[in-house]
Amino acid sequence: MEQTILVIEDEQNINEILTFSLGKEGYRTISALDGLKGLEMALTENPDLILLDVMLPGLDGWEVCKKVREHSQVPIIMLTAREDEIDKVLGLELGADDYITKPYSMRELAARVKANIRRSTVQQAVQEPEPVSQSAIVSGDLSINVERYEVTKNGEIIDITLREFELLRFLATQPDKIYSREKLLENVWGYEYYGDVRTVDVTVRRLREKIEDDPSMPKYIITKRGVGYYFNK
Ligand code: CA
Repeated sequence: MEQTILVIEDEQNINEILTFSLGKEGYRTISALDGLKGLEMALTENPDLILLDVMLPGLDGWEVCKKVREHSQVPIIMLTAREDEIDKVLGLELGADDYITKPYSMRELAARVKANIRRSTVQQAVQEPEPVSQSAIVSGDLSINVERYEVTKNGEIIDITLREFELLRFLATQPDKIYSREKLLENVWGYEYYGDVRTVDVTVRRLREKIEDDPSMPKYIITKRGVGYYFNK
């Protein structure tokens, strides 16, 4: 099935290069040159993925991202130009799935688009109703139900994102095995070459805030200094 990508970028030549290149990759593309129009298209055209520039006239990329998230879980890749913008994508719960830094190669962009659409397709499949299963990983007061994508702590359901869940499940499936951040990026995010390992650190930090009694003294997700992370059963 043909997938639609919405490009929200105010620089007309960049917008045209993006839509042209993604068109060559086999995607249907639609585009907007400002934030308001982009938001409107995001909500009415039902795209499969959004490429969203940060600096936009009218409504900026942060606002567009937040407003789209109020209605939709469509994958959003932010197009960032500066280091402080990257920090903002990583540090805030804006709901962006990924970011890519300018200047980027079209090959890198296409790989990111593909990875994010694939993840989103998996997520939609997961949201189909499923029979209740007993298949859970239990450790201490934590229970990870791998079929219902649910984590409970002391019987209370924890509000967790798909990526946090997948990271936790990946580590917990093989307790005590230490994974490097690169390996986690490859296995949990599906990036072979292009990811930023800080993404892993940020996700671990958020996960610890949700599952650990004391995030500064974690019991479950342990840092092996200079090597990576492991799940302590
Ligand atoms: Ca711009």
